[in-house]
Amino acid sequence: MLKIENLHAEIDGKEILRGLDLEVNAGEVHAIMGPNGAGKSTLAYVLGGRPGYEVTQGTVTFNGEDLLSMEPHERAAAGTFLGFQYPVEIPGVSNVQFLREALNAQRKYRGEEPLSGGEFLKLAKEKAGLLRLDMDMLKRNVNVGFSGGEKKRAEMVQMGILDPKFAVLDETDSGLDIDALKIVGEGINTIMRAPDKGVLLITHYQRLLDYVKPDIVHVLAKGRIVKTGGPDLALQLESEGYEAVAA
Ligand code: ADP
Ligand code: MG
Ligand code: MG
Repeated sequence: MLKIENLHAEIDGKEILRGLDLEVNAGEVHAIMGPNGAGKSTLAYVLGGRPGYEVTQGTVTFNGEDLLSMEPHERAAAGTFLGFQYPVEIPGVSNVQFLREALNAQRKYRGEEPLSGGEFLKLAKEKAGLLRLDMDMLKRNVNVGFSGGEKKRAEMVQMGILDPKFAVLDETDSGLDIDALKIVGEGINTIMRAPDKGVLLITHYQRLLDYVKPDIVHVLAKGRIVKTGGPDLALQLESEGYEAVAA
């Protein structure tokens, strides 16, 4: 589904990703773990098409299509979703407006009819319920004054509404307390665990992986994948540290 080959990328002329290879098949959840500054968020941004992140070598295909030649909105319309480590606040735009615009823009791009206000609200209520986020939160401006945990849950509501085929989730567990972690983990499973979907779950810690069981675990260090294993690798990293396991 997602195939990354020899990916090199730089920011401001500084090489961050240095020959990264990764392949995720449909139906799989892959976890990417790694020390601070390894390039995990950079990988997420490069996949999302964020300006300023320059790919200097390598290829990324999504269902056989060249992802890197697509604009960010085309990547989203093609079924990819990026969950941010630090979700942005958008004063003056409510979550409901934002989500309906985003969904209908994607539907239009795919040649589908837009959802009416009523249809959209029904969908939003269902997904908010899944993440136990009060509908009142969705009427507020995007992320403005939200706690860290509320931002992450709102982002998962967004993912539920857009219903992507492939999600890259960057430290979705950061800032979550234990109850919210469970809710978010179950939300990810409900929305993304399917034979035709894939997930790249970026995390520092094993704890999210107790809820969202990865099929494959990778260690990303100094801009490339340095070790790949099964779920046990995450446990080993947690107890022994990156240095010992992946040096
Ligand atoms: P991780 O998410 O694994 O902690 P990042 O991808 O955020 O790591 O960062 C990888 C490296 O790129 C770090 O050394 C970081 O300082 C550097 N970096 C990230 N963003 C920028 C930027 N906008 N300008 C320059 N360097 C950056
Ligand atoms: Mg970091
Ligand atoms: Mg990061």
